[in-house]
Amino acid sequence: MKEIVCKLLVIGAGPGGYVCAIRAGQLGLDTVIVEADKPGGTCLNVGCIPSKALIHAAEEFGAAKQMLTGRNAMGIGIEAATIDLAKTIAWKDGIVGRLNSGVSALLQKARVKIVHGRAAFRDGKTVEVETETGMQVIRAETVVIATGSKPVELSALPFGGRVISSTEALSLGEVPKRLVVVGGGYIGLELGIAFAKLGSEVTVVEATQQILPQYDADLVRPVARRLGDLGIRTLTGAEAKSLSDDGNALVVETSGGQQQLLPADRVLVTVGRRPRSAGSGIEELDLDRSGPYLRIDDRCRTSMRGVYAIGDVTGEPMLAHRAMAQGEMVAEIIAGRKRAWDKRCIPAICFTDPEIVTAGLSPDEARAQGYAIRVGQFPFSANGRAMTMLSEEGFIRVVARADTNLVLGLQAVGVGVSELSAGFALAIEMGARLEDLAGTIHAHPTRSEALQEAALKALGHALHA
Ligand code: FAD
Repeated sequence: MKEIVCKLLVIGAGPGGYVCAIRAGQLGLDTVIVEADKPGGTCLNVGCIPSKALIHAAEEFGAAKQMLTGRNAMGIGIEAATIDLAKTIAWKDGIVGRLNSGVSALLQKARVKIVHGRAAFRDGKTVEVETETGMQVIRAETVVIATGSKPVELSALPFGGRVISSTEALSLGEVPKRLVVVGGGYIGLELGIAFAKLGSEVTVVEATQQILPQYDADLVRPVARRLGDLGIRTLTGAEAKSLSDDGNALVVETSGGQQQLLPADRVLVTVGRRPRSAGSGIEELDLDRSGPYLRIDDRCRTSMRGVYAIGDVTGEPMLAHRAMAQGEMVAEIIAGRKRAWDKRCIPAICFTDPEIVTAGLSPDEARAQGYAIRVGQFPFSANGRAMTMLSEEGFIRVVARADTNLVLGLQAVGVGVSELSAGFALAIEMGARLEDLAGTIHAHPTRSEALQEAALKALGHALHA
């Protein structure tokens, strides 16, 4: 049995783990990272990157279909639009492969030792890894648990056959004729919209009364309208029960207690993700928990000395950029730097059509926290650039304290608004006031001018509305 002794051991090479290991290596820490699968974790292999590739391909195909002769408002016409899904998937896999190699190269450049295999804890400082060349024992002074999360499986609809998770949905051999999506959160809707554009008849089944239940109704409305345009049926207040006896349909119970059969070639279950906080001996460690998650403090320390945890395994929001920020911070703390979690906001994006981006507090959240607020909202329908891009749906909204005008939150819904997220987060991190947003010259013509106008509106004197 081979044995490695190191300063830092990182379990899991997702965005949290690999960023932590790279930064630790850069800081001169003798670091080992163990990964059971490919480097990059959920995000790179079966999450953010492949889903955005599929969404983009579907958007391009959808746009091409809009250009079929006679349909396009701009006067562009094409005779036919076709898609070869096998090629699309191969293109997506090519991107994932390039990024896999990129992550490995960055780890090597930072002199991090990569061990391939599943780590099982012997104790808080020692793991065993079954590698291709035999059992490896790794002992470390400090351990970072970055084991991520996996899709929640419904006991009545176990994965297999026509019931799939987001992982399988990203590598299907053909576009399902009839796709039922169980769960109208961001993952289900992003994929449901993509498949509708690729040609599936899509039905979304959502247990609560609203799709995207974590967002306020104003932000969701443009997305709901677009679902209708794309022919996507949504059943809210409805619960997926099981497959029908012949396995060809999903049995759904609506709020009135009636049962419906939804014919389905594929049933995509996207009802959330469960942290990988059990298995691999993690449950035998003396770690405090917060529900299913590992409990951490503002330095990502767990209840065991020298054991840190980052990323999805530590709770919401389960987002790649949160995991990365935690990973970078923890590496610096372990290297002796004085750091603590001091972020004011973690922006979140829903890559639906149109997209939704949020940073900081919504109006309801701000009021619930006791703030008296000013809200300014500016529609893209009054923005010249949006008109030239045939994307007038949506708005930018700013939420600020009524007494000091300090910006508490920014939200937008519209085509391509994801790219506004950096500016939104920067404004909140820098403690911007409405006057800062209103007084910053925004280049014309851009959709981001709607941000300046929203701030002006909150101050009571919008220029273009
Ligand atoms: P993970 O990425 O889950 O990585 C954990 C790694 O640990 C895995 O590679 C796993 O194999 C490894 N591992 C686990 N146990 C062991 C063990 N015992 N030994 C060795 N290795 C182990 N987030 C965004 O910010 N933006 C998006 O657009 C976005 N889109 C998404 C789309 C989909 C379809 C999905 C499913 C997720 C999406 N996410 C998105 C969420 C994002 O993928 C996660 O928040 C992020 O990957 C979490 O990073 P992590 O490092 O905590 O864990």
